[in-house]
Amino acid sequence: MTTAQILSRARQEKRKVLTEIEAKSILGEAGITCTPTVLATSREKAVSVSEEFGYPVVLKVSSVDISHKSDAGGVKVGLKNRAEVEAAYDAIMTSCRAYAPGADIEGVSVQPMARPGTEVIMGMTRDKSFGPVLMFGLGGVFVEVLKDVAFRIVPIDGNDAAEMVDGIQGKKLLEGYRGKETADKARLQEMLVQLSTFVDATPGIEEIDMNPVFAYSDGAMVVDARIILSEE
Ligand code: ADP
Ligand code: MG
Repeated sequence: MTTAQILSRARQEKRKVLTEIEAKSILGEAGITCTPTVLATSREKAVSVSEEFGYPVVLKVSSVDISHKSDAGGVKVGLKNRAEVEAAYDAIMTSCRAYAPGADIEGVSVQPMARPGTEVIMGMTRDKSFGPVLMFGLGGVFVEVLKDVAFRIVPIDGNDAAEMVDGIQGKKLLEGYRGKETADKARLQEMLVQLSTFVDATPGIEEIDMNPVFAYSDGAMVVDARIILSEE
């Protein structure tokens, strides 16, 4: 489905939260690279999609009522064969039904396991006076505990994006600190500009959260994405 179709369907269903699959499809249309992610509405479908991708794969609960999937026991990574996919499917369903009894669960999303990279986050929030604001930071404790995040008001150009990427305290971690793989800063900057262009052109989006994005020496990949729509 196109971005316009996804947004109008969500509006019709009076939904504010998009699924991971919908969010990745929209971001993909904006040029932002995401792991290919396919919905499976049964255990058998989860297996067939996994076999098409090739192992290892990741299964995640797909429900508009469960936005923080790990908290619900809704994410299983590194699944290596059919038996592991079947067991993960059942475990996700059991755990998520217990965690959120009334939740409308459409199935699981299936995606290839992405190679580990430097974890970063990108997103958009709305400020009452400035409007949409983009955010960039390192993942995990860097954002949650240290609040090491750079912000810019939309729209941004390439120079703004470069300032954002170089503006975080932990920027050394993007530069191959202690033998780690360097992060492709040029691509991260380009993704921020793509996000800005998309946000600027698309009214009605309240919040975007790409967490985590895996950065590599050559490119970067969004492995989880969330989009929240504004009130009409
Ligand atoms: P949540 O809704 O809890 O944020 P995520 O989709 O972010 O769920 O998954 C939780 C964690 O699982 C991620 O932070 C990441 O470390 C790992 N993960 C998720 N998808 C993938 C993937 N395709 N490849 C590798 N690791 C993944
Ligand atoms: Mg996440």
